[in-house]
Amino acid sequence: MTPSARPYQGRTVTFATMHGKEQLAAEPFRQMLGARVTTPNGLNTDLLGTFAGDIPRTLSPIDAARVKARLGMHIDNTALGLASEGTFAATPNSPGLVENTELLLFIDDVRQIEVVEISRVMSPLAGPRPISDMDAGLEFATRIGFPRQGIVLATSDDDGPTWRKDLGTAAELTCALDKLFDTKNEVTIQPDYRAHACPTRAEHLRSLAERLAERLARPCPGCAAPGWGPTASEPGLPCRDCGEPTALAAATVEGCARCSYQVRTPVAARRASPEWCERCNP
Ligand SMILES: [Zn+2]
Ligand SMILES: [Zn+2]
Repeated sequence: MTPSARPYQGRTVTFATMHGKEQLAAEPFRQMLGARVTTPNGLNTDLLGTFAGDIPRTLSPIDAARVKARLGMHIDNTALGLASEGTFAATPNSPGLVENTELLLFIDDVRQIEVVEISRVMSPLAGPRPISDMDAGLEFATRIGFPRQGIVLATSDDDGPTWRKDLGTAAELTCALDKLFDTKNEVTIQPDYRAHACPTRAEHLRSLAERLAERLARPCPGCAAPGWGPTASEPGLPCRDCGEPTALAAATVEGCARCSYQVRTPVAARRASPEWCERCNP
């Protein structure tokens, strides 16, 4: 293997995370790139917003990831940075379910490139819901796999909302609910989505880190910069029945993080099923 095929061999990548995400990226980055992933000391990414909503998020996911990665690189004085940003959003078409989008961003300041991988899946966990008694709380907790899967309890009053996190055992959860129901009629219960408290999200992030490491191991055919991979998909696959272009991808486009070199590959399917067609299935 030529040195350029392992551009990050022996290098250290700073993953700006407070919630153990560096452990999820460490293995793929070691295996595929020979790089070491570390986390900076004294980082507080919660200032950029939290899932539970106790600190509002103001930046777009990619900007938030960029700010975090830069912060980590600054603290550790490194040229290579990683940061991730996750979002959980209710899905109007499937009430009660939540869609999890994860973005993982890599910065290489020496080559001046930024490489991003994004993945979207349906979370297997039930979304937030109001409960009015202990039984409903314990039932929710059992269903989502507490205590391996963490729980957040939220209540609100005139001073605004309050959150309870880091409940480690069933006894702690029962005690917290007991206390809240002393003064409240309703509590919102929800999964804790922080990576260290959410095994399904950790798994999602791990596979995203694999994809990013694989991508960084692929050099651009034009300029040899790391990070060659899919950049866009081009809609317009024609309908099988009427030939109109549909929203389905007709081709994928691969590109470079540094130069403008691109390769367009038509998808294997020649025609789209009419169920995707605006004219045949409006
Ligand atoms: Zn059609
Ligand atoms: Zn290139």
